[in-house]
Amino acid sequence: GIGAADAKNLKVKLVLLGDSGVGKSCIVLRFVRGQFDPTSKVTVGASFLSQTIALQDSTTVKFEIWDTAGQERYAALAPLYYRGAGVAVVVYDITSPESFTKAQYWVKELQKHGSADIVMALVGNKADLQDRREVPAQDGIDYAEKNGMFFIETSAKTADNINLLFEEIAKRLPRPAL
Ligand code: GDP
Ligand code: MG
Repeated sequence: GIGAADAKNLKVKLVLLGDSGVGKSCIVLRFVRGQFDPTSKVTVGASFLSQTIALQDSTTVKFEIWDTAGQERYAALAPLYYRGAGVAVVVYDITSPESFTKAQYWVKELQKHGSADIVMALVGNKADLQDRREVPAQDGIDYAEKNGMFFIETSAKTADNINLLFEEIAKRLPRPAL
């Protein structure tokens, strides 16, 4: 999953998994372009974007981000999608318990079929919709802890924690041996 141009410049394939409508494409667009388009359809349709970030230790990480164009509806296609991924970001919507249940399904899939050293993050998105919250933050925290995942709540709409999500993932990547 992790490739390296040299020891200080990593690159990694990152996939997003989760129900349609939880905000995967919006998270990617917020991170890569700094934009949020509230009028976008269910999926933005971008299939491949990349973004490089610099860490404090002066290493850089290039994320090669694979966004689905709705294939999340077809579980059978998923293994092709996450093959070779060093990072999987599993997203749910904090207003949708169904999407949290689906996120747990994806985590189990990745544990069974993903790379052994894959870095997994669990993301509760739409954190701006506090008054419609149906998934307590503690449920996300507990599930992530049990499964050795990093957990964060984000809002692609307000940009809350979006950069932090990718920085924390970058810090957790296994470093290639020199
Ligand atoms: P995807 O199917 O998982 O890729 O979901 P999209 O990124 O296409 O987003 C689905 C819908 O949720 C769109 O109408 C977005 O405007 C909306 N959305 C995405 N992220 C957020 C968020 O953080 N807050 C709010 N309030 N709406 C969001
Ligand atoms: Mg999408």
